[in-house]
Amino acid sequence: MEKKTTRTIRIALAGNPNSGKTSIFNRITGAHQKVGNWPGVTVEKKTGYTDFKGYRLEVVDLPGTYSLTAYSLEERIARRYIIESKPDVVTNVIDGGNLARSLYLTTQLLEMGVDVVLDLNMWDEVCKSEAEYDLQKLEELLGAPVALTVGHRGDGVDSLLNMIVELVENRSERHRHVPITYGSHLEHVVKDIATMIEKNSSVSNHYPPRWLAVKLLEGDEEVKEIFCESNSANTELKQAVEAAWTHIHKTTGSDPERVISENRYGYIDGALREVISERPKDRMELSRQIDLVLTNRLLGYPIFLVLMWLLFQLTFSLGGYPMNWIGTGVEWLARLGTTAIPPGLVQELIVDGVIGGVGSVIVFLPNIMILFLGIAFLEDTGYMARAAFITDRVMHFMGLHGKSFIPMLMGFGCSVPAIMTTRTLESRKDRVLTTLLIPLMSCSARLPVYILFAGVFFADSAGNVIFLIYLTGIVMAFLVGRLFRKILFRGEVAPFVMELPPYRWPTLLGLTIHMWERAKIYLKKMGGVILVASVILWFLGAFPRDLDYSVDYDSQIRSLERMGTPEAGGQITRLRAAKASEAIEKSYVGRLGHLVEPLIRPLGFNWQMGVGLLTGFVAKEVVISSMGVLYQVGEETQESESLKEALGDPRHGITPLVALGFMLFVLLYTPCVVAAIAVRREIGTRWMFFSIFYQLVLAWGVAFLTYQIGTVLGTG
Ligand code: GDP
Ligand code: MG
Repeated sequence: MEKKTTRTIRIALAGNPNSGKTSIFNRITGAHQKVGNWPGVTVEKKTGYTDFKGYRLEVVDLPGTYSLTAYSLEERIARRYIIESKPDVVTNVIDGGNLARSLYLTTQLLEMGVDVVLDLNMWDEVCKSEAEYDLQKLEELLGAPVALTVGHRGDGVDSLLNMIVELVENRSERHRHVPITYGSHLEHVVKDIATMIEKNSSVSNHYPPRWLAVKLLEGDEEVKEIFCESNSANTELKQAVEAAWTHIHKTTGSDPERVISENRYGYIDGALREVISERPKDRMELSRQIDLVLTNRLLGYPIFLVLMWLLFQLTFSLGGYPMNWIGTGVEWLARLGTTAIPPGLVQELIVDGVIGGVGSVIVFLPNIMILFLGIAFLEDTGYMARAAFITDRVMHFMGLHGKSFIPMLMGFGCSVPAIMTTRTLESRKDRVLTTLLIPLMSCSARLPVYILFAGVFFADSAGNVIFLIYLTGIVMAFLVGRLFRKILFRGEVAPFVMELPPYRWPTLLGLTIHMWERAKIYLKKMGGVILVASVILWFLGAFPRDLDYSVDYDSQIRSLERMGTPEAGGQITRLRAAKASEAIEKSYVGRLGHLVEPLIRPLGFNWQMGVGLLTGFVAKEVVISSMGVLYQVGEETQESESLKEALGDPRHGITPLVALGFMLFVLLYTPCVVAAIAVRREIGTRWMFFSIFYQLVLAWGVAFLTYQIGTVLGTG
């Protein structure tokens, strides 16, 4: 038998964010990955393999970029990979409905002299539009074969792979190198400089000279570094570039960088005029119309706020129904546990510890799913990018730019992945500052606390109160950010352009997947951290067992029982309650709560709240479950008083004002241990301690002011 060594073809997928690269990548490699929608999320290098017609295809999903200048991290990653790793083929994935913008990147790929296959993705949407493309013309003009795909369905991916193989085998007639021309002003300058570079073989063997020439004229810092070594050739080159720069500046009145990019657009425009017979009423056009309203200087902000407000209203009001069902289910399970398991430690552990603890958290799953669904909807439609755009202007106020908005926004879901996304920021200052501020974005784990407390103490306006809490977090981030920028991180903010992808109707499947991905994290947390924490808390609450009670409750109860009168029955109930609450107070958890009590008394918090906050370091969901355990144990003599009723019980001394302060405290202090670990991993141990410290101070301060000012206003 003939033995063949399989040849490897290395393929890089390049394209704008949201062009469908990851979809195509997943289709080719079969790797299961998140299909994100944010520019910046796919910063990690993803590699996959597949076997195709006797070849081994090695595919890399490059970060989405609109250009290949060295301004952003994504662009640098993509560019470096193409230049240094020299893939056999660069597949340029393009939103077929939006050639005009996508081809900007294509021109730069062609300029780099790499073998490009053009993949017009989203072809399903092109078909639906009235656009008519002369694809043959496009191939001719750009000198690159064109494939048509529908990425999320996988249509056309096989023929794309065929084209790639053909290109590598040199069988593609459609392939040739086409220089991008820059018009009379620039063309001869570029040529001259390229010729000079060509003589320097140590450089021109590694990089295409023409590309280097263009980059030098653009003032590209990375490329300049290639020539930094001081020798006569480099000095001569530098002088030539400077002379050319001045010449262009003088003749055109603007700097070469702009002239070059204008020429690229001009080139594209010219090409498109030949390729597209009828300019489509493309999505971009429609999007532009929508954006006139949604990103309007005046209307943009109110619309943004109304949408966010709606989201939280929906989360609360709609989530109420399934929440009640689950609550009933949990209660039923607890009753079942009480009857099925003989009284004693095991029963207490299962009913109070496990069911009570986990149960009080799981009821919030519907709310969280609704919130995530809402966020997924805003992301998938493209509105989130607008939100980023709108806030970009505002972000400058705290010394950050739009790019930090994405990690901060993710902070509303969970601080941990959000903190990890700060890696995409170029400057360390931005990274540290963003990481410090992310925890102030109220993560979804805190939501149950708000839902519970706002529901009990602000029943009629719970949605508004929760919205206000979220808003407070954002406002705090602004104030703290501004302060830190002034004190800790002085310096300029790098300019950054925020791109707006076209609006798109999200698919039900996409929404479900995005929602589920997040809900899964919540559920996982419940199974792990929260279960363990609940059991530990139950233990701390149930032990030590042999307590010295201040009163001999048991003998008093026994003698009352012997009397058997109706009045005695009432007294027994009161005695049992007193015993139980003394027991919990003298337990380990009670002692712990009392230990921190002096610290939180100025905030109006009781010791149970203190325990809740302490345990909240483990995870914010635990705040609720620990209070669930505390109050259920404390009230076991009363007929199944739910946590809600227990909190609202005036005897516990929690007023709406205290509840508000408590919610603010929960909002502002460290999200959880895992988040702290993430902070440490990204920016170091010292910053981690700093972040925990400043958040505690902030939380305490705000809760203190709320309580004190509220009390003065209330009595005054
Ligand atoms: P990337 O940012 O370039 O990696 O793009 P993704 O692969 O994450 O795709 C962005 C969005 O476009 C996702 O919601 C995909 O489901 C969707 N998408 C991808 N390819 C197509 C396509 O061919 N047609 C349509 N209608 N949607 C697509
Ligand atoms: Mg992607």
